Amino acid sequence: MDGERKIIDRGGVYVENGRIVAVGPLDYLKNDYKPETVLEFPDGIVMPGLVCAHTHLYGILLRGGRLHLPPPTDFTQSLQRIWWPIDESMNVEDAYASALSASLEMLLNGVTFFADTFSGPNAISGVLDNIERAVNKVGLRAAISFEATERHSREEGLRGVEENLRFIRRRARGRVFGMMSLHASFTLTDELIEYAVEKARELGAKITIHVSEGLWDLYHNMERYGERTLERLHRIGLLGEDAVLAHAVHVNDDEISLMKKDGVHVVHNPLSNMLNAVGIAPIPEMLEAGINVALGNDGYIFDPFENIRAAFLIHKLAKRDPRYMTPLQVLEMATINGARAYGLEEEIGSLEPGKSADIIVIRPKLVPTPLNSETVYGHLVNAVDGGDVDTVIVEGEPLVSRGMPTRIDVEEVNGISQGAVEKLWGRFHRISEQLDVTEL
Ligand SMILES: [Zn+2]
Repeated sequence: MDGERKIIDRGGVYVENGRIVAVGPLDYLKNDYKPETVLEFPDGIVMPGLVCAHTHLYGILLRGGRLHLPPPTDFTQSLQRIWWPIDESMNVEDAYASALSASLEMLLNGVTFFADTFSGPNAISGVLDNIERAVNKVGLRAAISFEATERHSREEGLRGVEENLRFIRRRARGRVFGMMSLHASFTLTDELIEYAVEKARELGAKITIHVSEGLWDLYHNMERYGERTLERLHRIGLLGEDAVLAHAVHVNDDEISLMKKDGVHVVHNPLSNMLNAVGIAPIPEMLEAGINVALGNDGYIFDPFENIRAAFLIHKLAKRDPRYMTPLQVLEMATINGARAYGLEEEIGSLEPGKSADIIVIRPKLVPTPLNSETVYGHLVNAVDGGDVDTVIVEGEPLVSRGMPTRIDVEEVNGISQGAVEKLWGRFHRISEQLDVTEL
């Protein structure tokens, strides 16, 4: 994923003090450097750590959830019946437990950097410290944030913004930093968005928001403001090179031009879009326009290879044309483009001298065809999954070795997470029984 997208057969990476010093043919490296430790993978793919550019760690607590609900018929009902009652049920212990289990799952599947947005009106102030503690325990690199929304009140929105500002301002500890997160244009007023954007820019922080994921967002803006979603966000001044927009499913050509002009980044979450049945984002058109598009999971399916495969396939089907989305394009989305979205393209996203040693090694269990520089993209996009990830290194520190975490006990994490889930689902049932969707 360097500038030339070089792939080296029998290659090596030389690392010192957590940074990449040299990348090249192994024979050449062995002559020039005398490493203290050598990790050898004769049958492995050595590549940059994967980037999950949009996630909700707490989404992992919904896996297999016994929800006792009439199934939602569209995305709006999914928010009303599932996501918002879950948000209401979340407390700071759940935030910690989910951050621990979800970051561990991402780590084991080859993710070395993710961008998380937590939501929960009853767990705002101080919650990001709990999430940070969990992520640091696992050892991953992450941008974390609280999803500000005025769904209940202006005051709720301001508290969310302040939690982000507090966390962005405090000195970085470990590999975790803060960003500004806003829910979506249909739960926020112009005034709050303006305020949050201005304060975030003063601190040089990234700003992230869900954009036209479902039609509700678009209809809300058309009805209230006479503007499409991106027209409104452009007028308010949110769009810029520091803006990371999740989804952008319901955007037209004019909005794509606007996104390109304003230099925003987009995060595509194909499996979440399928689950919520919201539609298919015009990603090929965005790439064609020169917009930086990264890949996320939106809190659903924490194995990045599944979203890589979905991004590779869904646009071929939608266009009924197999030429759309090449293996290289989707692997760029999952690595260097994700790094660029968060201003980290000089630090991570590729294996190049000077960058942080955030490296993964994949050892496919079955290799029915030769694995070399000509075939490696085909293996990665069509066959590899998170279970094939053997080694994960962040800043030179091996966090996963032979598929097992080095720092953390899996059983302990499962215990913490399952303990929190039992209580969370109980609170969810009590809240959803009282729910009057006409008030939402
Ligand atoms: Zn999301």
